[in-house]
Amino acid sequence: MPSHLPRRAPVDPSDVIDTVTVRTHLEQLLQERQNLLRELEPRTLPSVDPVAYQTAVSSLRVVEQITDALDRLHAGTYGRCIRCGNQITAGRLEVVPHAAACIDCQNHADAV
Ligand SMILES: [Zn+2]
Repeated sequence: MPSHLPRRAPVDPSDVIDTVTVRTHLEQLLQERQNLLRELEPRTLPSVDPVAYQTAVSSLRVVEQITDALDRLHAGTYGRCIRCGNQITAGRLEVVPHAAACIDCQNHADAV
């Protein structure tokens, strides 16, 4: 009996994504961002409060990304890189649940 073999067969990561938990988490993040945007709204003119404006701009981007992630969850493509089609690692999805690209593609996009 060889002892170096893995005890379990590799699991398809798409099988281990708990869509209910992910959706709840994403909806919670979405809610937080929307609350923040509502708070910032009176000040989000670059001439009034540049910091609030920048925060609002980046929050709006995140809101878009979360909405896209919820769409992908619904379509059954959540967790798959939109660029190369590879599975995004569970660790990355834990840190960035609305990640649309795997770390390699993201790094490449950031570098451009
Ligand atoms: Zn990728």
